[in-house]
Amino acid sequence: MIEDWKFERRRERLVEELREKGITDERVLAAIHRVPRHRFVDQALIQRAYNDEALPIGLKQTISQPYTVAFQSQTLAPKKGERILEIGTGSGYQASVLFEMGAQVFSVERMRGLYERTTPLLRSLGYKIVTRFGDGMQGWESMGPYDGIIVTAGALEIPEVLLHQLKKPEGMKSGGRMIIPVGPRKGQVMTYVVRIGEDSYESVELEECRFVPLLGSTEG
Ligand code: SAH
Repeated sequence: MIEDWKFERRRERLVEELREKGITDERVLAAIHRVPRHRFVDQALIQRAYNDEALPIGLKQTISQPYTVAFQSQTLAPKKGERILEIGTGSGYQASVLFEMGAQVFSVERMRGLYERTTPLLRSLGYKIVTRFGDGMQGWESMGPYDGIIVTAGALEIPEVLLHQLKKPEGMKSGGRMIIPVGPRKGQVMTYVVRIGEDSYESVELEECRFVPLLGSTEG
């Protein structure tokens, strides 16, 4: 039996570290304070669960570094009840942070092994996240359109299909937004995109980052 309380203090320290690194959104910090990251990593790595580092989760994939999870969540800034699509469920940690922020989370994973392991884990932790096994490059049209899309694998370019699944702006309300690492395998740039019209989008490049690759259904 894992003694969850032992990790409480470490989680507090991680939150402080993220604050020092520039994360200011209290809703993000509160969510990270609540989600038991040690339950999302392998038993053998449990002592490292609250270090600010990415860790292997098997099948050549990683659970993102907490700073990266915080940065993507802070940029996406989901409001309560908003529909958010995540591409790359992986361990389920990022999805759980968004869920704790009050979002309605849908998440797609292309590796069956991860999908099959993570779906019951999320359920057992009480995170009501809707997961799907499939190619996230295609998005998840039937559940959309989305207030936000978060891509947690590095894309060579922004998949057009995903842009179309963002909500269109309505009156004074701006359209859906997306946070996605874009660039070659060796390194990407975190890119923030907002839908501003039927066929128009505005994007800004934020900071450099490094993710495992976003792969299509027949690759890798
Ligand atoms: N958000 C995850 C990060 C996992 S790493 C977490 O919090 O743990 C990125 C994940 O994206 C991997 O699990 C990988 O299998 C998945 N992935 C890569 N390409 C994908 C695609 N086209 N569709 C869905 N998932 C994909």
